[in-house]
Amino acid sequence: MENILILGGGPAGCTSALYTARAGLSPLCLEGEPSRDILPGGQLMTTTEVENFPGYPKGVNGAELMMDLKKQAEQFGARFVYKTATSLDFSKWPFTVESNGITWEAKVVIVATGASARYLGLESEQKFLNRGVSACATCDGALPRFRGHTVVVVGGGDSAMEEALFLARFASRVHVLHRRDQFRASKIMGQRVIEHEKISVEWNTVPDEILGNDKDGVTGVRIRDVNTGEIREIECAGYFSAIGHKPNTDLFVGKLELASDGYLVTKPDSSYTSVDGVFACGDVQDRVYRQAITAAGSGCMAALDATRWLEAQEA
Ligand code: NAP
Repeated sequence: MENILILGGGPAGCTSALYTARAGLSPLCLEGEPSRDILPGGQLMTTTEVENFPGYPKGVNGAELMMDLKKQAEQFGARFVYKTATSLDFSKWPFTVESNGITWEAKVVIVATGASARYLGLESEQKFLNRGVSACATCDGALPRFRGHTVVVVGGGDSAMEEALFLARFASRVHVLHRRDQFRASKIMGQRVIEHEKISVEWNTVPDEILGNDKDGVTGVRIRDVNTGEIREIECAGYFSAIGHKPNTDLFVGKLELASDGYLVTKPDSSYTSVDGVFACGDVQDRVYRQAITAAGSGCMAALDATRWLEAQEA
């Protein structure tokens, strides 16, 4: 039987592995089977340069950072396997988690399955991912590729507004493409975008194709007016998808309390979920901050909560 089973190997999962390993609990982390939809190491694996993780004045490659986090946890006895949980039973204790025929029993489960950025689904989005296509301005916006250049942001919610305002610090011009004639975003955020001298809003507009080549990555976006059908091209160096995130919670429907937008519900100021002994951390329960460092911080919280909970059971 496992003491601690961690689902997800991003910054939240790795940090909870590090802390529970140092507590002598020898955690097992299912970091996911590599596939088109699952990235062991989480979203950081798709980020080239991370410049805002404290402790790296020269920045750090996202994949390197994740490998270091994992190595650090392994040094203290954490174990990692490339497995994805496919079913689980939280209705009785110890909990059971299954991955294609392999079953684990665990005293504690820490859910750190993260969230996935939504993309429109254009083939060109995948083709130019990390070469001008991004879903995280905070992660990538300050890179030389975008500094002093035109960039495009797609979406009309608060995320798109935040991305556009952040990008406007570095880019020469930001075009926000929104499919309607009104933002979904809060009024104040929308107004800031509309009034910003470096930002233009293209209403009733959707991207049809991202343009580019192997050498330069993204060079432009072909856009379509949804009312008139008119097609235009915007020359740009970057395309930021900001049409929302989807928490990776499909597996937990009916097993843990989820909010109406699909995020896992944790009790205030803690990582406790609706099931005693199951904890959650990172982007799967955070629709607001969604940063590597906040995910790592909440991974630490989950590890401390889980360790104390386990001690109380075994006292
Ligand atoms: P969101 O509010 O769901 O907005 C998604 C936007 O993307 C919408 O404008 C939507 O258009 C557009 N969109 C979705 N699918 C699309 C498609 N296929 N093609 C074109 N456009 C598409 O998501 P979010 O902005 O990530 O925000 C999520 C939650 O976090 C919200 O509650 C938000 O308030 C909150 N949040 C808050 C802050 C803050 O307070 N600082 C920052 C970020 C996020 P439609 O409007 O036409 O549906």
